[in-house]
Amino acid sequence: MTPDQHSAQTFAGGFGRVKGLPRPGTALLDGGAVQRKAQRMFLIFGSSVHETIINVVRFVCGYCGVDAPQNVVKRSNRFTLFFLPLFPISTRYINRCTNCGGETALTAEQARHSLTWSARASDTRR
Ligand SMILES: [Zn+2]
Repeated sequence: MTPDQHSAQTFAGGFGRVKGLPRPGTALLDGGAVQRKAQRMFLIFGSSVHETIINVVRFVCGYCGVDAPQNVVKRSNRFTLFFLPLFPISTRYINRCTNCGGETALTAEQARHSLTWSARASDTRR
């Protein structure tokens, strides 16, 4: 898996009547002509998964036993409307080994802790 990877699930739904729009069959003036058409609004909505590597830490992996860089990944599932991501539905944090790809779920607190830990480690190296 590469960073900024997307996978999308999309659902399409047609709504007979949307609040604020005229009822189907209502006469509408359009450029001087009377239009008698059923007003339908077609919505394409769904969800997409977006991954961002927020940190890289190094330790011995619990899966493969190799001292390899571990990516701390923020995985957010976002609601999309017409394929445009609008807002996150859920956010999860995982730790992924760059050697074997083994994944471990992290809490938001653990992900935050890895950031402060690596910031402190880079301070002492200076
Ligand atoms: Zn590993």
